[in-house]
Amino acid sequence: MSAFSAIGEETDKDQNEFTPGLEPQPTWCPGCGDFGVLKALKGAAAELGLSPDEMLLCTGIGCSGKLNSYFESYGFHTIHGRSLPIARAAKLANPGLTVVAAGGDGDGYGIGGNHFMHSARENHDMTYIVFNNEIFGLTKGQTSPTSPKGHKSKTQPHGSAKEPLRPLSLSLTSGASYIARTAAVNPNQAKEIIVEAIEHDGFSHIDFLTQCPTWNKDARQYVPYIDIQDSDDYDFDNTDRREASEMMAETEDALHEGTVLTGRYYVDSERPSYGQEKRTIGEMPEEPLAERYFDD
Ligand code: SF4
Repeated sequence: MSAFSAIGEETDKDQNEFTPGLEPQPTWCPGCGDFGVLKALKGAAAELGLSPDEMLLCTGIGCSGKLNSYFESYGFHTIHGRSLPIARAAKLANPGLTVVAAGGDGDGYGIGGNHFMHSARENHDMTYIVFNNEIFGLTKGQTSPTSPKGHKSKTQPHGSAKEPLRPLSLSLTSGASYIARTAAVNPNQAKEIIVEAIEHDGFSHIDFLTQCPTWNKDARQYVPYIDIQDSDDYDFDNTDRREASEMMAETEDALHEGTVLTGRYYVDSERPSYGQEKRTIGEMPEEPLAERYFDD
C-alpha cells in the first residue's frame, strides 16, 4: 500500500516509518481552500502508489508554501517565486523522481512569472500547482496578479484598475503541454487532474482555484462550478491548440461573470519533454546526473 492516504482516511501504514514523532497539523485558517489542495494531492499520490522517497515537492512563499510541511515526501520550501527553477534542477539531476512544484498566484504568476513562462516553454517534466485565490493571503490581503478589476484591497482601496492575468492562456502561449483548471471545492475532480498531470510527460500546469475566506471574501466558492468535460455545452478538442485557446478565452471571460468552468483544457502528449530532448541530442546521459556525481 502507498504511504500516502487522504485526510481522515484509515491506513495501515506505520506512522513512524518515515516521520518519527508527530506529523505537523495544518495552520491554515478554517475554510481555507488550501486544505482541498492537500487532500487532492494526497489522494493522487496514494492512487499512483508513490512512496515518499519517490517524490519531491517544492513550494514557494505564501500560505500555499506550507504545503510540503504537511505532506510526506522530499520537500524544498524555496524562496519567493523560485520553486520552479529548483524543481527543474532536481528533475534534470534525477529524472526518476516525481517532481511537483506549488505556490500561490502571487508567487507563481507575479514574483515567479518569468520562471513560469520559461518552464512551460522548455516543457520540463513536472507538475506545477498554482493555488489561485486572487489575493496575497499570507501578507494579509494585497491585490495579486489574478485579482479581478475593481477588487478592493489594502493596496488598491479604490479598486484595482488592472485587468487580471489570464493564467490558462498565458500557459498555452508559453508552451505548457498539459493545462487544467480545478477547484478546492471539487476534490474528486482535483485528484483526478493531479493524477493525470503527474503521469503526463512534460510540463503540466494546474490552475487550482482556492478560496481565502480571511482576506478575500468574494463568495466565488459558492457559485456553480461546471466541469467542461461533463457538460454538453462545451464540446471542444483539447488536443487542438486553437480550440483549446478559444475554450480558455471563454473560461477566463466567464470567471468573474458568475460561471466557473474547470477541467482539462489542453493536452499535448506528443511533444518531448526537455529532458528527453537533451538526451536525444546527447547533452545529457541516459543515467541520472545525480548517480554520476554520487558514485564518484
Ligand atoms: Fe488560507 Fe487566506 Fe488563511 Fe492564508 S490567509 S491560510 S490563504 S484563508
